[in-house]
Amino acid sequence: MALNELDDLYREAILDHSRKPRHQAVLDRADITASAVNPFCGDETSIQVALESGRVSQVGGRAKGCAISQASRSMLTQLLIGQSLDEIDTIIAIFQRMMRGREPSLEEMARLGDVGALEGVRQFPVRIKCALLAWSALEEAIEAYPGDEGA
Ligand code: ZN
Repeated sequence: MALNELDDLYREAILDHSRKPRHQAVLDRADITASAVNPFCGDETSIQVALESGRVSQVGGRAKGCAISQASRSMLTQLLIGQSLDEIDTIIAIFQRMMRGREPSLEEMARLGDVGALEGVRQFPVRIKCALLAWSALEEAIEAYPGDEGA
């Protein structure tokens, strides 16, 4: 997509994350593995999460694809360390609502951090799928995680 159609600020954050994706190393041991492909764009993404006492202690995985999908995954992985699965669910829901057109509150924006930069992607409906790819995959993997006893 024409990244230059996005605001400069958004573009900077997206380029930074897509060029230097965070948490992109495969873990030896993971409690949760989320993966997904976006056939429309050729994006492939995976996120591994290792838990310790109910909180995320390590994040890894691998991804390839367009700048938006890479940046979105990278921004998501940055938010995960130290969070419980319930907290991650909440953050994912805020992001999904934002990408579907609901304006986040200031408090929600603060929880999203860098991820707020992806709001501009809403102007490009085909790219929303790229932005949501890793998030939806992680949401599903958390739902399927048997150790999620709501602790
Ligand atoms: Zn894509």
